[in-house]
Formats: sequence, structure tokens, C-alpha cells
Amino acid sequence: MAKTAIITGGSRGIGKAMAQKLGELGYNIAINYRSDSSKQLTEDLIEEIKNQYGVEAIAVQADVSKFEDCKKLVDATIEKFGDQIDALINNAGITNNCNFIDLQPEDYERVITTNLVSMMHMSHLCLPYMVDRETSIVCTASVGGLTGVINQADYCAAKTGVIGLVRALALEFAPRKVRVNAIAPGMIMTDMLRGVNQDELNALAATIPLGKIGDVSDIAGALGYILEAPYLTGQVISPNGGFVLQ
Ligand code: NAP
Repeated sequence: MAKTAIITGGSRGIGKAMAQKLGELGYNIAINYRSDSSKQLTEDLIEEIKNQYGVEAIAVQADVSKFEDCKKLVDATIEKFGDQIDALINNAGITNNCNFIDLQPEDYERVITTNLVSMMHMSHLCLPYMVDRETSIVCTASVGGLTGVINQADYCAAKTGVIGLVRALALEFAPRKVRVNAIAPGMIMTDMLRGVNQDELNALAATIPLGKIGDVSDIAGALGYILEAPYLTGQVISPNGGFVLQ
């Protein structure tokens, strides 16, 4: 029987590349997106994955910062593919890039709920369909969760929280055969990076030991490795060009 995966924030960027990797690995996939403007992008991606890899895929619009939307996403997946979830990829994320004094409470609350609380909601809802069957949760953290970044206090707090969540869930669910790992990307060229000051970005990129900004395929490759590594749990894999050393 085909395996089932859910990926949040799969419409663009890193999530899109990871959704393609899931298709390549033979998973049927529920691909989540949030914005109306990403509906067509996600539907096109689904057609591409179905045609290329012969798997099934559905697009589910949901704001994963909200528990009820997460429930809608999980219910739609179960209804389409049955009540066994093999991989949950918690990937959706946003950033503010603002100095902490000007940052408004509603802005940092949105970053925390979207980047961290969403992953708790999704893991809480999916785990009953994952336990006792050699399954995997992978959460997208960030090098911001391993070190501090100026003007990213909320984002760094959320991503450090993601790593804490991954480590604790890995210990709690190892006896029940669910592996839980994080990917902490360095700078990867997506809409998220295109949105920041490009001069500052280029100055920072010049300090990366491998000398370049990463590609979404670097992160999809890490996902493929994690999903096929049965002895790996509670770990943070960080494709970052040597930018941050663990
Ligand atoms: P991106 O191109 O901006 O894509 C963000 C994705 O998240 C989109 O699919 C977006 O959906 C989705 N999303 C945002 N808020 C959502 C919500 N409330 N509910 C559901 N989906 C939501 O960003 P990216 O660079 O690919 O980032 C993906 C992940 O990698 C994030 O967790 C980010 O923090 C992390 N990361 C990125 C970098 C980097 O350099 N790019 C570095 C480290 C970590 P819509 O299309 O519908 O808006």
C-alpha cells in the first residue's frame, strides 16, 4: 500500500521542493497552502507530481497557525488516503525581519503561532495516525534556531522552540516507532529571502564558507535522507554551507 505524507506550506520555495521529493519517494501527498494567490500554484504542482511520479496528491488550503484549520487539513488527508499517516512534514513558516522595539505584539505572535504552534497542532493531530508503524515527523527549523540573528528575535525564538519540540517528541515517541527530526536550513533562495534587503543579504552571503546561497534542492535532499534513515531521531540536520557550525 502506498505511504501517505502531509506537508504544510508546500506551495512554494522549500516546501514545493520537498513535496516533489515526497512524490519521488512514492508517497501520496496532501499539500497544504494558505493564500488564495497560491491555489493555482499548488494545483499545478499537484498535476506535475501526479504525472511525474504516478502518486496521488491533493491540495488543502488551511492556515496552520489555527488549530481548526489544522484539523481540516488532517481530516481531508484521512478522508482521501485512509487513517494511516507515514510522514508529517511541518514546513510552513514566515518571518518579520524587524527591530524588536518596532515589532508589534500581533506581529511576533503571528510568527510564533505560524512557525511553532502550527507544528504542535499538526503533530498533536497526526500522531494518533502515526504511532507503532515506523513513521516520521520532519520539522523545518532554521540556522536562526541554532544561533541569534539581528532583527529576527521572534523568528529565532520560534525556530529554537521547533528544535526543542523535535527533541522532546523524539524521546517521547521513539518507543512508539515515530522518528522526529529537524532540518535547519541556512540561507536558501526562495521568496522569503527575496523579501529582505538584497545588499544586506549579499554581504551576509559573502561570509558563507562554501561561498554561495543554497538551493531548495539542498533541503529536499536532506528530507530524502531523513525519511530513509531508520536509525536517525531527535537530530537537527543543517544544510547551511558552513555558515553555522554545530
Ligand atoms: P516561502 O517561499 O515564503 O514559502 C512559505 C510557505 O509557507 C508557503 O507555502 C506559504 O503558503 C506557507 N505558509 C506561510 N504561512 C502559512 C500558514 N499560516 N499556513 C499554511 N501555510 C503557510 O518560504 P521558504 O523559504 O520556502 O520557507 C519554508 C520554511 O523554511 C519556513 O519554515 C522557513 O522559516 C524555513 N527556512 C527558510 C530559509 C530560507 O533561507 N529560505 C532558511 C531557514 C529556514 P502560501 O504560498 O499560501 O503563502
